[in-house]
Amino acid sequence: MRFSFEPVTLKTRHVFAISRGASDTFGGVIVRLEHWGLEGVGEAAPSPYYGENQATVMAALETLKAEIPDDPFLVGQLHERMEKRMRGNPSAKAAIDIAVHDLIGKKLGIPLHSFFGLSRDSAPRTSFTIGIDDVRIMMQKVAEASEFPVLKVKVGTDKDEQVMDAIRSVTDRTLRVDANCAWTPREAVRKISALEKFNIEFVEQPIAPGDVQGMRFVRDNISLPIIADESVETSVDIEPLVGAVDGINIKLMKCGGLREAVKMIHVARAVGMKVMLGCMVESSVGITAAAHISPAVDYADLDGNLLLARDPFAGVEVREGQILLPSEPGLGVRSRS
Ligand code: MG
Repeated sequence: MRFSFEPVTLKTRHVFAISRGASDTFGGVIVRLEHWGLEGVGEAAPSPYYGENQATVMAALETLKAEIPDDPFLVGQLHERMEKRMRGNPSAKAAIDIAVHDLIGKKLGIPLHSFFGLSRDSAPRTSFTIGIDDVRIMMQKVAEASEFPVLKVKVGTDKDEQVMDAIRSVTDRTLRVDANCAWTPREAVRKISALEKFNIEFVEQPIAPGDVQGMRFVRDNISLPIIADESVETSVDIEPLVGAVDGINIKLMKCGGLREAVKMIHVARAVGMKVMLGCMVESSVGITAAAHISPAVDYADLDGNLLLARDPFAGVEVREGQILLPSEPGLGVRSRS
């Protein structure tokens, strides 16, 4: 087995801003795993919010490569060994998990959604994210995203109502909002109540994680569903939120890969929650991996690659918001260079 990895720099077309910061440059890592004469590819898209960056991923991969079992089919053993070796570092673990799954799919000669028992005919539509900016620029982004039937608008500034009013006045598309922890519970109730008139599907992460009582208070005092994102990293975070949120946002880069993501879907279903599948700013490697399990979720927000000025890979395609899964074995991604 040969394992290698290299840093990758992803640039977004626009500066991408959410309530806690802005950037147009995102450092990730691409991993490659060779076995059986086949190559599996994976990606880490680290987020400083979860304690990672490009350098921590490279260091973690250097250590974690020793934990990859000789038999790549032993995915359960892979994750047990990685967890035992180091806590956290979810995107580094996700990169290995994705590469191993790509390899398994190629060995079996089936696309990953088939490996997970899912049909490409059931893939959902993805939303397209409108980052925080001047109202004029946000409206320009909405116009550029005209092919997408669902928009997710980043909120958490004093212009939220003005922005949503402007967007709603030009479109009847489905709108979701994401506050990325911007508000206190009382603020959240006030702000969300002011947005309800714009016919919004749900609100993502109104308040900071850790305050379950606060989240329950918000949910009890608004009429929109709440989806937890920053409050939920892995499956153990789901049960404590029962009654406080309506659903969870799963990301491969938070939870450590496809195996844990699938487990999270099952846990969320078992406690009656809706499931959303989200992403970081990622290339088509990470996005395609997530897309393969998207037929199992209610809401997809897999647009991280669509925000890029140049994507070094091609894989999943999106047409008028509809996710079109590759039918080639494994991930079905190829390098563009
Ligand atoms: Mg979010």
